[in-house]
Amino acid sequence: MVIAGAGPAGAALALLLARRGVPLTLVEASPSSARQFRGEALMPSGLAALAAMGLLPLDASIAQRPLTGWAFWANGQQLFQVAEPMGSERPCTLVDQEALLDWLLEQVHRQSGVRVLRGRPIVAPLLSDELNGERVVGVELDDGTRVRGELVVACDGRASLLRRKAGMELKLQGEPLDVRWFRLSSAAADDPLARWLRGQFVTVLGGGDSFALYASVYGGVQLGWLQDPAQAVPATTADWRERWAQASPTPLATLLRACPLEAIQGPVRLPVQVGHLENWWQPGLLLLGDAAHPMSPLRAQGINMALRDALVAARHLLPALGKAGSADLDQALAAISAERQIEIRRIQASQAQELARAELLRRNGWLRQLLATSAGWSGPLLSQRWQASQTLLRQGCAATDLTIPDAAMMDGFAASA
Ligand SMILES: Cc1cc2nc3c(=O)[nH]c(=O)nc-3n(C[C@H](O)[C@H](O)[C@H](O)COP(=O)(O)OP(=O)(O)OC[C@H]3O[C@@H](n4cnc5c(N)ncnc54)[C@H](O)[C@@H]3O)c2cc1C
Repeated sequence: MVIAGAGPAGAALALLLARRGVPLTLVEASPSSARQFRGEALMPSGLAALAAMGLLPLDASIAQRPLTGWAFWANGQQLFQVAEPMGSERPCTLVDQEALLDWLLEQVHRQSGVRVLRGRPIVAPLLSDELNGERVVGVELDDGTRVRGELVVACDGRASLLRRKAGMELKLQGEPLDVRWFRLSSAAADDPLARWLRGQFVTVLGGGDSFALYASVYGGVQLGWLQDPAQAVPATTADWRERWAQASPTPLATLLRACPLEAIQGPVRLPVQVGHLENWWQPGLLLLGDAAHPMSPLRAQGINMALRDALVAARHLLPALGKAGSADLDQALAAISAERQIEIRRIQASQAQELARAELLRRNGWLRQLLATSAGWSGPLLSQRWQASQTLLRQGCAATDLTIPDAAMMDGFAASA
């Protein structure tokens, strides 16, 4: 089989299948896992997926740090703060995703029957005409090489080429958003900005602006600025820094203004259009991760859902792969699609509600002011309501089955491995 893309979905699926002896080719367009900006927050739902894969505790070489909590500020006043783990089994944890992906790929490499092609973009799916219709039977790479397989799993991200080539259209949700990412690095071992954050994920609302910041495991402070694409953006780094400062409480504003311009990297713009496929498969082709359901950036779901997709897919694929006919395989693809839709749609709906609440506050100066001036008594109420709204976004759907049955209980490759 062929797995397209070695992000969290593709790398995790490759490992789960390769461990059970499924021969596969993992094709990745990029020569390395390094990106200028990467996600790093793993929710308890993603950590549960890693635990189910037998990957926790994570290798000590992978930089990781539990978040200490969440804090919300509006018009210079703290509305509330909540400490991790908020009743979850594990706290939300920042993990160096680049190191995690490299480590996963190292494990994949160690399995027999696996080929990893890096720096090799896929340019098209290969199709065959069968008696009962068209079927994807492999992929073509940029140099014309053809890689065949009984199944192609497209884990090629939110702009998925395989999704487009297969004519599969996302059902879009809400209006497009822009997230602009910055990194504020400090040469000092004891960065005063990181010290002020105290390991928390801090959201700041003020003057019609909204941004979030946290001390990154990559070093420095990562700052994400959420806006609708029609909103004007500051022209220079100095203008950006002043905009953040004006929305911030005084101590944070002082620290931001003290941050040297040359220490501010970005912005890197990530246009976000949330959506999902109503059907994640076609004969011989399955889509997973962002390729099937580009997520909103709110409350960090993308990596977590990609890992959970991989687990559920592996559970269905292991008994079906390597069997004589394609009917079993197609049935497994349909089952994966039906099962994963449930969690993804619920999470996307919950993210949309979270965004609507944040936008209401961002746009309404009077409401922000009311909450800021009454924070003494309204803060605890807001905190309670916010925590109640986070269960799904933190834990995922309780009904999601993350188990991988014992090899002995399965047919196909799983039994022979
Ligand atoms: C700045 C930033 C911050 C984020 N923060 C978080 C966070 O804190 N927590 C969280 O859970 N999520 C976060 N996300 C989202 C998260 O990174 C994604 O949802 C997640 O990586 C999706 O995993 P994936 O495997 O489906 O796709 P991707 O990680 O996008 O991986 C797709 C892979 O496919 C490869 N590829 C693409 N096209 C081809 C092709 N034609 N041929 C071969 N290979 C191809 C790409 O190079 C890539 O490696 C963030 C995203 C960004 C950009």
